[in-house]
Amino acid sequence: MTEILIKHADAIVTMDGARSELSGADVLIRGGQIAAVGPGITAPDARQVTATGCVVTPGLVNTHHHLYQTLTRAVPGGQDALLFGWLKTLYPIWQRFGPDEMFVSAQVGLAELALSGCSMTSDHLYLYPNGVRLEDSIDAAAELGLRFHPTRGAMSIGESRGGLPPDSLVEAEAAILEDMIRVVDAFHDARDGAMCRVGLAPCSPFSVSRELMRDTALLARDKGVMLHTHLAENDEDIAYSLSKFGVRPGQYAEDLGWTGPDVWHAHCVKLDRQEIDLFARTGTGVAHCPCSNCRLGSGIAPVRQMRDRGVKVGLGVDGSASNDAGNLIAEARQTMLLQRVALGADAMGAREALEIATLGGAQVLGRADCGSIEVGKRADIAIWDVSGIEAAGHWDAVAALIFCGPMKVKHLFVEGRQVVADGQLITVDLPAVVKRQNRLAQSLRG
Ligand SMILES: [Zn+2]
Repeated sequence: MTEILIKHADAIVTMDGARSELSGADVLIRGGQIAAVGPGITAPDARQVTATGCVVTPGLVNTHHHLYQTLTRAVPGGQDALLFGWLKTLYPIWQRFGPDEMFVSAQVGLAELALSGCSMTSDHLYLYPNGVRLEDSIDAAAELGLRFHPTRGAMSIGESRGGLPPDSLVEAEAAILEDMIRVVDAFHDARDGAMCRVGLAPCSPFSVSRELMRDTALLARDKGVMLHTHLAENDEDIAYSLSKFGVRPGQYAEDLGWTGPDVWHAHCVKLDRQEIDLFARTGTGVAHCPCSNCRLGSGIAPVRQMRDRGVKVGLGVDGSASNDAGNLIAEARQTMLLQRVALGADAMGAREALEIATLGGAQVLGRADCGSIEVGKRADIAIWDVSGIEAAGHWDAVAALIFCGPMKVKHLFVEGRQVVADGQLITVDLPAVVKRQNRLAQSLRG
């Protein structure tokens, strides 16, 4: 079995139960797992990776994305709009996507995540025009080598029935459920160390019916897969819920079976005290997307209160039409800064932001086998060089990872396989992918 020995790290941030940090220590990877952590490990047959001048962390975990949106970055009509206006600008463009657009845009989004230290990501794909299938993104992730939690999203209420998307972008609910069953049966792997786990994810309460929300929850429980959607993203979202359903989003979610340890909701910027308690009580997770919330002017999610009440919180870069970057370590920094804007400089420290970005995300995605550097956990490891310009002069290497930057990862291992080496992606030909993506964007612009 292949062995890799990471030697002499300035700091190893383990995210174990005691949140131990080790200095001058090593990590031994055997196959896809972590075999040893500590000082002075020897393994004569192992390939050695020197980590002097580096901080070693668990791979970062991204809990919310729409990878396809890397093809619609900085679209002029959507640059300065609020959520609903922004969506209405982009729907007609997304309507022209096909399998090629989905595959290439996913490669770009996944590559960007990998270069920012992300080893595991979810994706929320809720558009299936022109023969698009969930496996367009699954194929991209398998090639690139990231641990992947794709979700079969859906929209079923078009404009003519009071929904937001154009009728041509929505699907019949029976067909949605049928395809959900197909992709779970074909691609979901429930085992420890799984590289692909499928979730079910109607797009949002304003683009599918109550019935589809309820039926999807029943199906997910039957299949043992997780549920994901957008919730309580901004004031418009709350107003829609109150006028259309007569309840706040938390109540709506609870009524339809959308709370529990197998559910995570994106954004949750506008959750009130009772809704935060509901999430804590039920083990429901949150994907916090700070840059997207800033970009769309949605507000500051109550992450401090959520964490204090015991809600599981992970990070999301969100789709690249509303960020428009996909740099996950930058989201950890933004998380810390935004809580400080809301509550003061002692509201969140660098180490807590790093915990949310790693262990927090793994907990949200239900991955007890990932998110920390401990013997027996999967070998998803990011190595960060803090000896360069970004952090030169630092006094605390671990804190520098979040306070300074933005950082790019030096080496990234996923399931023991190296994906990034010396800052370069080694699993795909990135310049060729970028060239292909730019060509597709040009043809979409017409
Ligand atoms: Zn989103």
